[in-house]
Amino acid sequence: MKLAFFDAKPYDKPSFDRYGKENGFEIKYFETKLNEDTVELAAGYDAVCVFVNDTVNAAVIDRLCEFGVGIVALRCAGFNNVDMKYAFGRIHVLRVPAYSPYAVAEHTVAMLLTSIRRIHKAYIRTRDFNFSLAGMTGFDLHGKTVGVIGTGRIGRVFIDICRGFGMKVLAYDKYHAEGLDNGDTVKYVELDELFGGSDIISLHCPLTEETYHVIDESAISKCKRGVVILNTSRGALVDAEALLAGIKSRKIGAACLDVYEEEADFFFEDFSGHILEDDTLARLISMPNVIVTSHQAFLTEDALSNIAQTTVQNIVDFVRLGQCENEVCYRGGRAEDCKSGKCF
Ligand code: NAD
Repeated sequence: MKLAFFDAKPYDKPSFDRYGKENGFEIKYFETKLNEDTVELAAGYDAVCVFVNDTVNAAVIDRLCEFGVGIVALRCAGFNNVDMKYAFGRIHVLRVPAYSPYAVAEHTVAMLLTSIRRIHKAYIRTRDFNFSLAGMTGFDLHGKTVGVIGTGRIGRVFIDICRGFGMKVLAYDKYHAEGLDNGDTVKYVELDELFGGSDIISLHCPLTEETYHVIDESAISKCKRGVVILNTSRGALVDAEALLAGIKSRKIGAACLDVYEEEADFFFEDFSGHILEDDTLARLISMPNVIVTSHQAFLTEDALSNIAQTTVQNIVDFVRLGQCENEVCYRGGRAEDCKSGKCF
């Protein structure tokens, strides 16, 4: 199996080298992203491996097919960067639906504790031998209420951790997880009750038309004064302008963001030494009560290993069996053409 690996970062290679070698793969790592300008690099390969910011549109799919590339192996869960409708019947698209909910949930808690206990300030201050505690007052998590929007894999791990701190949980999900609501410390509520009753709000739902800007001006107006907003899910769940206004007006006490609406232009790349073109992001980063990490919540050795193992296994299964349980299909296609049974 000859695999062309796009948007390769140094942290991708150890796990993919390991699982690739075990399965006789020949992997060529390209630092560039896959798009119409770079697709020629895929000539001579059996499959391409892509990530969240690679572009797999109709033109790219056509070229891949001309080169005889039969598989697009996504090393992530989301596939919004693939024209699935066009891919149907032309090329097979495989993905990694889950790799480590612990990685993302634990990163969310790390950001929360860093923010409310001012660890980011203390780290810089003590390096300068400044041992003053002025401005370092935080608050206990014990006894506080956290609102969790999305109680899937990551949301539930996050809730478990919060319960360990002795927090109460107000949960919201379109589909309730069985056995989660205990009528006491964890309760499913409507969004307005979650907004009004939470000291901290954490987002763990996917980005859809329904969840787009779930945290907007109106939602923020319903929140408690001093609410802490955590977003490690998708940037566009939060209206960044409204968030900034809420921080300026002191309504929002703090924000921890691992994702940002316009992150595709910046995240994963080094822009130090450049003038940041996005004023909203620059202003958010300049706030003392805002912590931004650049879509790093997934980045643990465990998650990277799971991603590589599943991606390689997906391709192996597909080549051996002609199908793979992690194939993504487009429902608009003919059912008899769908071997995976996993149409969306
Ligand atoms: P999941 O599918 O297990 O859970 C998502 C939950 O959201 C489900 O319970 C679903 O019912 C719920 N949901 C769907 N529509 C909703 C709506 N309109 N309102 C409220 N809830 C709704 O997914 P997961 O593995 O827990 O991942 C959650 C999100 O985390 C992903 O969608 C992704 O955006 C994000 N994520 C971020 C990173 C990162 O590195 N920052 C990594 C992986 C995933």
